[in-house]
Amino acid sequence: MSSDSFSSLPISAAQIANLDSMGYKKMTPVQAQSLPQIIRGKDLIAKAKTGSGKTAAFGVGLLNNINPRFFGVQALVLCPTRELADQVGKELRKLARFTPNIKLVLLCGGKPLGPQIGSLEHGAHIVVGTPGRIQDHLRKGTLKLDGLKTLVLDEADRMLDMGFSEVMTDIISQTPKTRQTLLFSATYPDSIEQMSRSIQRNPVRVTVESEHQSAVIEQLFYEVKKHERNNCLLALFEHYRPETTVVFCHTKKQCDEVAEFLRDHQIEALAIHGDLDQRDRDQVLVRFANNSCSVLVATDVAARGLDIKSLQAVINYELPRDPEVYVHRIGRTGRAGEKGIALSIFSASEEVRVNAISDYQKKPCICDVPESLDRDPGFSLQSPMVTIQLDAGRKNKVRPGDILGALTGDAGLSGSQIGKIDIFDMSSYVAVERTALRQALNYLAQGKVKGRTIRARKLR
Ligand code: AMP
Repeated sequence: MSSDSFSSLPISAAQIANLDSMGYKKMTPVQAQSLPQIIRGKDLIAKAKTGSGKTAAFGVGLLNNINPRFFGVQALVLCPTRELADQVGKELRKLARFTPNIKLVLLCGGKPLGPQIGSLEHGAHIVVGTPGRIQDHLRKGTLKLDGLKTLVLDEADRMLDMGFSEVMTDIISQTPKTRQTLLFSATYPDSIEQMSRSIQRNPVRVTVESEHQSAVIEQLFYEVKKHERNNCLLALFEHYRPETTVVFCHTKKQCDEVAEFLRDHQIEALAIHGDLDQRDRDQVLVRFANNSCSVLVATDVAARGLDIKSLQAVINYELPRDPEVYVHRIGRTGRAGEKGIALSIFSASEEVRVNAISDYQKKPCICDVPESLDRDPGFSLQSPMVTIQLDAGRKNKVRPGDILGALTGDAGLSGSQIGKIDIFDMSSYVAVERTALRQALNYLAQGKVKGRTIRARKLR
């Protein structure tokens, strides 16, 4: 039994079998380093980012501590964004399958309070949510944390960046002092150290080096004059031809401008940043995740919590000042052993940032010039799928099977032409192959889903 086997842990055989059924054959480094300590009840501060397996690290730990017979909130996971909370909730639900009767409630902003209150009244063992909404429930008295055993702060650095410090302090003050506190953060600025000192007791420190990741990421830096940035960006697409890319920008305005510039040059791109309303944000995320958008232009904050499985390239339209932010950005490509490419554009005045990255990674940055790139004037980039929006959702009792059934049944599409289906409260989204779009829309214009006519249109 090796030390990175889940069976080396004092957890139930049912959970080990469940992990096995999820395809988790051995622990990732962050799990191997933190789980034994978490199970011993220690506080923990871990430097780990998305992709490291951190969710299962705290998930297996907190589940081991839950008593299903006690109907009170025993574990609370605070996340910076709704997307991350959704992701964490999904993973915890799978991890909890080994035992019946564990209830998990998601409490995020942007959703009506009523149903959340209803779910809490039925008794929840685990709450996952965003700080603002958790605080709302505490104020209303609809959530009580006096029986809490485990508190998890996920992406704590980002929660501080987003201005949640006071809200978090307020929430934590309403939990028992005897709780176990697990803090996960991609970076360790002073503010995180301070926070750890004020809320944790002798935490065990775990750092998972990102070496194994950066080894499979090819990193290249392109020096340009200030006015050549857009042209270089285009040259990078023409030369490397990545099918899925996130382009990182500093500001919201820059995101919009860069996305528009790419679209003007036959590269389908969408911008995502904090100014989008929730609905637009949902739509952009749905389209990127279901392969009907190949390029996302994002700010650091907006890109947090994206559930990106295989990103071929990350492009830094501008380099961040902080080398840790750079490493975090490029960690989104080259996941799961796949090769990724990280391309960065910089001007002479930003050379200090390149040097800081080189010092931080303890290896030289390979610099090149855009003139070395092979260009293709006829280049265009279109996603293989397109998204159809249907004006009916969870509230209308629409399920993925209904949409799949309608499209593969009467509409005559084959299952392989249909991609991801996402159901929201009032609307649903289905990805279909571009070539099948007409056929799908023609059917939906006349036919029925679940016996009803539902309005459908292509998202653009
Ligand atoms: P996370 O860092 O929590 O976002 O997890 C990254 C991905 O790794 C998720 O898709 C998990 O399902 C997966 N994962 C987590 N732990 C393991 C494991 N021990 N073996 C294989 N995959 C894992």
